[in-house]
Amino acid sequence: MDPLIKDLTKKLKERKIRPSYQRLKILEYLATHRTHPTVNQIYEDLRKEVPTLSKATVYNGLHALEKQNLIRVLNIDEGEARYDFTVTEHGHFKCKRCGTIFDFSLEPGRPHIEELKGFKITSRDFNLKGLCPECLAAKS
Ligand SMILES: [Zn+2]
Ligand SMILES: [Zn+2]
Repeated sequence: MDPLIKDLTKKLKERKIRPSYQRLKILEYLATHRTHPTVNQIYEDLRKEVPTLSKATVYNGLHALEKQNLIRVLNIDEGEARYDFTVTEHGHFKCKRCGTIFDFSLEPGRPHIEELKGFKITSRDFNLKGLCPECLAAKS
């Protein structure tokens, strides 16, 4: 068995998710495409390899994986969910021109939010938008 698939199968089993072929394929796709793809991109690419795959299966699979914190959903732009294999805390920069989403690391536990003392924070998102160096160069 492919070592990545073996590792992902273990991950699914640990989270009590049945390691179905489709779910493994979705997880493998995200593990090897760290570009924060959309549902459509995942579906279109995987369909070539798994012709029996339906969009509903992709949706359901992504949902199950997200619920178990194996992947992260980013909603940087309304109506466009993007999926991320990296679940550890990090920030995102979205280029408004080419749509690429770049990762960057965040200092753990920062920023310290004084105003929210007494609140329980369950998710943190740090999103920036602008132009990537490539698009900046193309613009001028
Ligand atoms: Zn760009
Ligand atoms: Zn990311």
